[in-house]
Amino acid sequence: MKQNLSRRNFVKGSTLAGLGALLIPQASKTEPTQRKAEVRTAVVIASSNGLRATAKAMEMVQSGSDALDAVVAGVNIIEDDPNDMTVGYGGLPNEDGVVELDASVMHGPTHRCGAVASLRNIKNPSKVARVVMERTDHVLLVGEGALKFARMHGFKEENLLTEEARDMWVKWKENLSTQDDYLPPHSVDVKNIGSKLDEVMQTYGTINCLAKDLKGNISGVTTTSGLSYKIAGRVGDSPIIGAGLYLDNEIGAAGSTGRGEANLTSCNSVMIVEWMGQGKSPEEACLMACKRVVDHTKMKRLLKDDGKPNFNVTFYAINKRGDYGSAAIWSNATFIVHDGVTNSKLDSAYLFKRTEI
Ligand code: ASP
Repeated sequence: MKQNLSRRNFVKGSTLAGLGALLIPQASKTEPTQRKAEVRTAVVIASSNGLRATAKAMEMVQSGSDALDAVVAGVNIIEDDPNDMTVGYGGLPNEDGVVELDASVMHGPTHRCGAVASLRNIKNPSKVARVVMERTDHVLLVGEGALKFARMHGFKEENLLTEEARDMWVKWKENLSTQDDYLPPHSVDVKNIGSKLDEVMQTYGTINCLAKDLKGNISGVTTTSGLSYKIAGRVGDSPIIGAGLYLDNEIGAAGSTGRGEANLTSCNSVMIVEWMGQGKSPEEACLMACKRVVDHTKMKRLLKDDGKPNFNVTFYAINKRGDYGSAAIWSNATFIVHDGVTNSKLDSAYLFKRTEI
């Protein structure tokens, strides 16, 4: 990575049961500050691709909708959009060229949740996750079973692979190795045919959306096509309750985007909600989750030469008051907040500053 990175300053903070001494970020004038407000009647936040989702969700919440109806309708806009290649229709496929989607929903007032993973052919996995929540005694359905269930409930099957996504997948496959039989466009003079992998790297991408409605109830959703070109059947953190999404109606909600494996191995959404329950602000709790991911990353292949992770994870959170926050391991992450008046993109807090060299 061509970046010179310097670490955010830390001071030692209070200890939390079972976690030992944790480091709490110092306030800094140049960095995002806590976003506290008087108790908000309603708030909606989302990952950086969620501007239209938060607009829709806030419109619904303000006209009296339940937060779950609002966030699902919000992310459906992004799932339906072929130009967002990280979610739903038009999402980048797995290594076999098949789009496999993961999603979870959670409803604060009933503390129920539903999720689907490795779901093919259905462009709104968040809607299917919701039906799992409402019409089964289960939480998570996967693969063929999830598809069968979706069909049973009238979801229409369609090919989710757009021409643009197919084209990117072919480029990735053709540049995986100079030793295999797939060749990208080339001339007879080229020696290393198929060596441009850095131009078609694997990418993460997801939408997480959390809302507090006019009754003060909290709900959330996370939906994704997951890691591009993943091994068929790979499931990230998005559909795993406690990892990619978690909430407690009396405390708040949290969700994530980024390298799912790093979050799956430390289940941070549930931790963020618990930390908020112990008095941390949403932003502080998200930063603690970032620190937890860093502390749990031991594999050398996931670390840069300076020992910092070579990937990013971003967390989002709201609390019962309507305070909100987001933090990422690396700077330059953003998130969307609709506070009932304005719908804006804000900088997430971070542990490490990304500096181009
Ligand atoms: N967390 C998702 C996954 O690992 C991807 C992402 O958010 O970028 O599947």
